[in-house]
Amino acid sequence: MKILVINAGSSSLKYQLIDMETENVMAKGLCERIGIDGHLKHTPLVGGKPVYNEDIALPTHAEAIAAVIDKLTSAEYGVVASMKEIDAVGHRVVHGGEKFACSVKIDDEVMAALEECTPFAPLHNPANITGINACREVMGDVPMVAVFDTAFHQTMPGKAFMYAVPYDYYKNDGIRRYGFHGTSHRYVSARCAELMGKPIEELKIVSCHMGNGSSLAAIDGGKCVDTSMGFTPLVGLPMGTRCGDLDAGVIQFIMNKYGMNIDEMLAVLNKKSGVLGVSGVSSDFRDLDNAAAEGNERAQLALDMFHYWVAKVAGSYVAAMNGVDAIIFTAGVGENSKSSRKAIAEYFGYLGVEIDDEANSKRGEDIMISTPDSKVKVFVIPTNEELVIARDTKAICC
Ligand code: ADP
Repeated sequence: MKILVINAGSSSLKYQLIDMETENVMAKGLCERIGIDGHLKHTPLVGGKPVYNEDIALPTHAEAIAAVIDKLTSAEYGVVASMKEIDAVGHRVVHGGEKFACSVKIDDEVMAALEECTPFAPLHNPANITGINACREVMGDVPMVAVFDTAFHQTMPGKAFMYAVPYDYYKNDGIRRYGFHGTSHRYVSARCAELMGKPIEELKIVSCHMGNGSSLAAIDGGKCVDTSMGFTPLVGLPMGTRCGDLDAGVIQFIMNKYGMNIDEMLAVLNKKSGVLGVSGVSSDFRDLDNAAAEGNERAQLALDMFHYWVAKVAGSYVAAMNGVDAIIFTAGVGENSKSSRKAIAEYFGYLGVEIDDEANSKRGEDIMISTPDSKVKVFVIPTNEELVIARDTKAICC
């Protein structure tokens, strides 16, 4: 059984074809500049076929999907003989609102419900919907599943997801904490339980997804009970370019002082803030590490702030769950930056965390980086959102 996983953005489309017997990726790729001019990079990972990496006209997402199918099935670059070998398609969808607490098989009713969630994610959901429509157009009645970034967080209790604003904003308008990166938190927490050889129902886990965008989740007995992103992915930790938590009064002050409208203000908070804004150097943690090593104090301050916030939010989740058995680091920074992991773990001395420096130096594998005696276990687990999407699609469709 082979499943195509699609992650459609407004002008890009990432894909993987996964063989579900082995869970190996057979091919992966990226369409870029859809609707502008177009570029496709297709990488076959089985059969010794060459990489395709060319400019190619991609006026709409439908042409992009058609180009992907063409490459997946072509004699020169292909990994399957025909489209008939693709049993189902799994789509990443950013926002499922309160309607979707788990993945669903896509039909016309689901498409209508997705449209209803669009105001919550006005940049992302329309792109995801366009990708699904394009796939349905090109692939006909191949079964398809939607997997939501928000779904895993739907188990949060009201005390964690409510904002303390007039209740009608929740009741009438859906204003609440939704959380994101749910597919990643779900994957790494399940994997952590496997690595610990314990049922997830018996574990309290803090999952730290630290990439360009970062969020933490408190996972008690396999269920998310709190997470740091909110109504939008802007809040929680300071991120690459996003501000994280901020007093709303600051927004009013800056807008008044500099004559900005709300769109300009939000552009600053989304794109020019976070560690980029504080350091003035970069949103990339490798650049920050290098600049800090050369004595750049603002780069060091940005790193210190990030580490402090991760530790502070993680600590609040230990309190919320009344304990913790494991802490997980994942995503670009979590998987690759041993210095960030070390700096954050130093805050966890009160939990009896001890880091094994040799294990912390390894990369690219699931690994426990705490010492065998450490009271709380600390893991690095490379995330794999595509595999979760493929597994859900298989479970629902096949
Ligand atoms: P996204 O949120 O876009 O999916 P990723 O999870 O791919 O992002 O993470 C990207 C981040 O990972 C970048 O900020 C990059 O600096 C960071 N990163 C990648 N490799 C390293 C490394 N070796 N050391 C520190 N940071 C790294």
